Amino acid sequence: MRQTQTCTPKHNLRVERRVCDLHYVLANDPDLLETADLIVATTGSWAAENSLNRWHLAQGRGQPILYGWTEAHACAGHGVAITGEGGCLQCHIGRTGAPAFKVVDWPDGGDANQEEPACGAHYQPYGPVELNYVTAMLSELALDCLLTPPLQSLSRVLVTSAKRIVDLGGRLSEAWLSEYVEHHSGVRTVDRPWSKLHCTACGEARADEAA
Ligand SMILES: [Zn+2]
Repeated sequence: MRQTQTCTPKHNLRVERRVCDLHYVLANDPDLLETADLIVATTGSWAAENSLNRWHLAQGRGQPILYGWTEAHACAGHGVAITGEGGCLQCHIGRTGAPAFKVVDWPDGGDANQEEPACGAHYQPYGPVELNYVTAMLSELALDCLLTPPLQSLSRVLVTSAKRIVDLGGRLSEAWLSEYVEHHSGVRTVDRPWSKLHCTACGEARADEAA
């Protein structure tokens, strides 16, 4: 069942919500997305974001989409802005939704979800203090997309301190160390290209355009 609720409080803020999944919106209410200046997707669902990426490609990538996610323990956060040129979301994401570039490895399985005793709830042991670094980075990238839109798709990566990663049993990945060898003691943010690889999603879209 679908419901729409609108709230228009002070300060030019208009909030609407749809009680349905993203596939329903894509199929039945695409104007909602097509008229947006920026779409921010932080669903944590590869099925949803894969569908959004394919919709984005089909409608010509008319506006940027910002995707965001965290790594285990919120030790790293990723923002990926997909714009009109450069890679699509899937270019650097595996078929099961696993990103190709990861900042932290957990050799002893420290990235596994915790489980509450006698309960089916699973969780990662971090809180708003750790997460706020990631949400602040994503918020800043969202403003960049609106005020000075990047010409090419890009990735912004936030990494917490090396000490915190080690204390939790993690270590910086080979992929990270191959690009950023210098030691960092505090939180660090870097921008990386999100190049076009003509993956199965944007390669197919290109073939459709040529047909
Ligand atoms: Zn692609």
